[in-house]
Amino acid sequence: MSFLSRRFADLTGRAIGNWFRIKELAGRDRSGAPVWRVICQQCKCAQTFPHMKLTNALGSGQADVLRCQNTACAGSHIAHARTETLVDVRRAEREAQRQAELVAKQEQERVAKKAAEEAALRAERQRWLRVANHQVSIGVPLSQVLTFQTWMCSGAHWREEIVKRVNEYEQSA
Ligand SMILES: [Zn+2]
Repeated sequence: MSFLSRRFADLTGRAIGNWFRIKELAGRDRSGAPVWRVICQQCKCAQTFPHMKLTNALGSGQADVLRCQNTACAGSHIAHARTETLVDVRRAEREAQRQAELVAKQEQERVAKKAAEEAALRAERQRWLRVANHQVSIGVPLSQVLTFQTWMCSGAHWREEIVKRVNEYEQSA
């Protein structure tokens, strides 16, 4: 915390209402002001807030200037110690829904990408096997038969060419 100076109070351990507790210094922003890691007391999620925002909240004694950044947390949309409007509730619900859909979509994409990669690898292994079998069948010493690793490290164009030649050879044989 060496950069904390008389300009910035050390906020470590301070509580903001019952809602947030300032855990530790997390870094500083572009202007050089501290950024603090804060724990939401409702969902226990750690998040960072700029110094000014925290001193405002501490100064006003109102935690409701801070919102939990975890959209699934009640503290993200309920204005603490104040009533929220129905519009706020609907907006927060839409936001939570949007977030949930986003997460689901990202997960689907990740699974699909992984499946595609695995399928591509299986297809490549089949191609290599064909070439390696061909090498064996024409009497290439086993020690000189292409390994899968060498195959995979070779350029795509070269691999295409080899497969083409094996096809041609087998068709003419
Ligand atoms: Zn929270």
